[in-house]
Amino acid sequence: MNATATATVNTSAASNYDEAADYIWNNSFDKPTLVVSRARVGVQYDALQAGLGDARIHYAVKANPAPEIIRMLVERGSGFDAASRQEIELCLSQGADPAKISFGNTIKRGVDIAFAHSIGVTMFAADCEAELDKIAEHAPGARVYIRLIVENSMADWPLTRKFGCAGSLLPSLLEYTKSVGLVPYGLSFHVGSQTRRAEYWHPVLDQVAPLWHAAKEAGHDLQLLNIGGGFPAYHGDPVDAPRGYAAAVVAAVKERFGEIPVLMAEPGRGMVAEAGHIAAEVLLVSRKSAEAARRWVYLDIGRFSGLAETEGEAIRYQFVTPHDGKPVGPCVLAGPSCDSADVLYEKNPVDLPLDLRDGDKVMIKNCGAYTSSYSSVGFNGFPPLDVLVL
Ligand SMILES: *Cc1c(COP(=O)(O)O)cnc(C)c1O
Repeated sequence: MNATATATVNTSAASNYDEAADYIWNNSFDKPTLVVSRARVGVQYDALQAGLGDARIHYAVKANPAPEIIRMLVERGSGFDAASRQEIELCLSQGADPAKISFGNTIKRGVDIAFAHSIGVTMFAADCEAELDKIAEHAPGARVYIRLIVENSMADWPLTRKFGCAGSLLPSLLEYTKSVGLVPYGLSFHVGSQTRRAEYWHPVLDQVAPLWHAAKEAGHDLQLLNIGGGFPAYHGDPVDAPRGYAAAVVAAVKERFGEIPVLMAEPGRGMVAEAGHIAAEVLLVSRKSAEAARRWVYLDIGRFSGLAETEGEAIRYQFVTPHDGKPVGPCVLAGPSCDSADVLYEKNPVDLPLDLRDGDKVMIKNCGAYTSSYSSVGFNGFPPLDVLVL
């Protein structure tokens, strides 16, 4: 668990210099703070774009909505996947071109659709007739892509069930889209977040490709294939580097779909996770009994203040401490709040140095995605996660 060793396994990095880590060890913090390196997000963007070739990146804003990151991506030419009026406004405030913003949530407010339409957003997601009715009413004539449910996700954080329609519903939905005066512009899906290997996409692509071809044969001039997110970050298990991963995904897509007029990808985690780490502090180390093998380590950050993705122990963060390299023992890791669900890792304990004490700084690695955006406003009085963008 020493910082240098971890950085070398972290294959995604284009360079080993870790600006956020450097900042964390050279500064002190009076509350949990996510430190994100904008330069590092830029490196990830460039690597993903190089691998994706002519596919367009629409950054999934929810992964990390820091305005400085949005602005840097605007300057690099990125598009954006926004899920709400607030996210659209954020992108606009940082100079994004509305033509490069897709309204990708399948569950939208009518007034928000009207707002998006009025400022020039032209692409909307839908997965059922009622949502198409809303779009037809508030954004007449808009381009719509239909979100599909995909099975067999091999992701560490699957996004199945809640979004998308079954493939069997697609033909009638495309007809319906036309019948209400909208443009059936394309299809979208999401393989699931943190899909660690490019080949894990294959079963999902095998489900969607026949639907694409059938829709074209039925006379729909589909232009857009939106392959969503799923691009991984290093969370302990090996992942492919972003450029090679993205290139392999695009090759697998083209093999099954042929030439696609507009190919779009919506990386969130893969763009920002590795660019940020959280500076946290140990509040308490205790044993529940004299003979207990495992210590309980309580941090000043937990499930409600940024580490929501520890739910089900799905995402396993890496911890760096000032005592790394010394003997370790198993620990249950928990947050500070008075809620018994605020336990981060218990089924699979984390090995931490025996010397760890309250007051020690702990760096939680690769937390740039889905931490600040999941942090509560201050449950139990613990402050929301502070964000510092370098
Ligand atoms: C959350 C989300 C993404 C980003 O997913 P990652 O796995 O973080 O890359 C992309 N598209 C849609 C529609 C999403 O909801």
